[in-house]
Amino acid sequence: MNLRATSNGQQATKANILEIFRSIQGEGKYAGIQQIFVRFFECNMHCVWCDTPHSIGDTTRRYDEYDEDQLIQKIVELNNDCHSVSITGGEPLLQAEFIKAFIPRIKEQNLLTYLETNGVLPNELGKVVQDIDIIAMDMKLPSSTECRPYWDEHEEFLRVAKGKELFIKTVISSVTEKEEVLKAARMAAAADPNMLFILQPNFFDMKNGVVEKCEAFQKDSRKFLKDVRIIPQMHKMLKVR
Ligand code: SF4
Repeated sequence: MNLRATSNGQQATKANILEIFRSIQGEGKYAGIQQIFVRFFECNMHCVWCDTPHSIGDTTRRYDEYDEDQLIQKIVELNNDCHSVSITGGEPLLQAEFIKAFIPRIKEQNLLTYLETNGVLPNELGKVVQDIDIIAMDMKLPSSTECRPYWDEHEEFLRVAKGKELFIKTVISSVTEKEEVLKAARMAAAADPNMLFILQPNFFDMKNGVVEKCEAFQKDSRKFLKDVRIIPQMHKMLKVR
């Protein structure tokens, strides 16, 4: 986030945004709804199968700076009876200060706020959680992401989010380990046994037996959780963004 002085001496904030567009939500519990997607630039992780490498600064460092007025103007232009604004990335919570200040502008438009996050920045979540309506939280399994484990961060994130509408999504690839899926399911159940827990087959592994793997993990996870579903990335099937 960039800070700059305005003519009246107050500070205005700007956010680094990669893209803003309207589309169909393709993942998780709300798949199928119309949303305005605000994709914040940059991420603190580096998942091996990341499908938005342009958003994490891998392939390009290009982004646009928006202040609150510019961003809400764009959202109003795009809104066509949308359900919500998806605050996504990259990792949007890296710009939590801007998001916190901006959320009231979204609410003024009678749109819900839908946060898509990697679930590893609990302190940053604490800055915005009060005004977020729906949290779509990833649980990052090290055997899938090829990143370090984030179990402590995920646990704390769930604690900070307690009482909010939240569902968990975890990407299953051909090399995902069963023990990690079970650990994630146990952690979700400890937070809320009624938690929706979604196994999302890695799109690039569809021909490598990943659906069968998801079915086995679904059965295993149901020992801890009532609601475990296998939901692929539908926007890729619909060939939309
Ligand atoms: S957390 Fe999300 S945006 Fe960041 S590297 Fe992983 S998949 Fe990509």
